[in-house]
Amino acid sequence: MSKISLKNIRHSYMDNPVDDIDWALKQMSVDWSDGGAYALLGPSGCGKTTLLNIISGLLKPSEGEVWFGDQEVSNFPTDQRNIAQVFQFPVVYDTMTVYDNLAFPLRNRGIPETEIDKKVREIASMLDLEKTLMTRASGLTADGKQKISLGRGLVRSDVNAIMFDEPLTVIDPHLKWELRSKLKELHQQIGTTMIYVTHDQTEALTIADQVVVMQEGQVVQIGTPVELFERPQHTFVGHFIGSPGMNLLPCDFDLGKIVYGGAQIETSNQLNVDNTATRFEIGVRPEFIRFADSGIPVRVEKMSDAGRFSIVETRHGEDIIKLLVPDGGHVPSESAFLQFDPKHTHIYADDWMVD
Ligand code: ADP
Ligand code: MG
Repeated sequence: MSKISLKNIRHSYMDNPVDDIDWALKQMSVDWSDGGAYALLGPSGCGKTTLLNIISGLLKPSEGEVWFGDQEVSNFPTDQRNIAQVFQFPVVYDTMTVYDNLAFPLRNRGIPETEIDKKVREIASMLDLEKTLMTRASGLTADGKQKISLGRGLVRSDVNAIMFDEPLTVIDPHLKWELRSKLKELHQQIGTTMIYVTHDQTEALTIADQVVVMQEGQVVQIGTPVELFERPQHTFVGHFIGSPGMNLLPCDFDLGKIVYGGAQIETSNQLNVDNTATRFEIGVRPEFIRFADSGIPVRVEKMSDAGRFSIVETRHGEDIIKLLVPDGGHVPSESAFLQFDPKHTHIYADDWMVD
């Protein structure tokens, strides 16, 4: 096992890419450390599957190199890369039994039957497939078949990485939760690098130590769930993660001062006076705003209950500003003022946080 490095990767499915949008993956360099639990998070179409296929070798990138440790593997076929990949939809041999499906990747590698038997039963027990081991795969539900796919990904212990591509899409919601915790547990046991693709932030944040957030073919941030929450490096991370997401408020940048709602706003990060960006926004999460006696004047418009707190929607001019108020906290009925917590208020220049 070793670190996986993507060096200056770029990929287009077109023969002659011209514009930015012709690239399914824009130029990126990403290191996946050995044994890490990663989630690859982003909306549909942002390039997640493309990235996985480049790592496993199913796809050769238009540009760039793939390295495992200190060996370049860019020209290695998939079987030499030794990566277990579980796809979004089940890939099973219908005519084989569940047992033989699980044993297949091991038999392929010439592992002794006694060892195979032990491993197959271990994985079957983890996935609750013991009772169906001798059943033909064709007789199973979609759930059951996907569990076999997961099992086939997990059965080998010699892989460089296990990659799951939205593997729980066809799985029943209550089973989803259970499988997710099992995958996390298993990762902790075996310690193989894991890359788990999802478009669901809850799934990403529960399963991974490091979340790689993608948007439009670009990696916009790699960080722990806490880092993504507290210091989103890009406005996309701010509003995609969190519920509700971060408030993004267009502001002015005048003579070194950040001005919003007629007042100077204090932020965690500072802009250089000569910053040439064309758009400036203040980003502040609903968790870090409170009602006060003075500050940004707003009108309270809506309130919804969200468990231990309420989400309150206020308006300042064109902007909607959301904040969280704990249960029992005072919510003014109409006009009010807001204060932002400066430690958690950030300035973004053309969508990127400036440090
Ligand atoms: P995700 O897995 O995040 O949904 P994909 O990697 O599948 O995204 O796709 C990224 C972009 O590349 C999308 O715009 C998609 O339409 C395009 N794409 C994916 N596969 C192909 C292909 N085989 N041929 C042409 N375009 C593709
Ligand atoms: Mg995909």
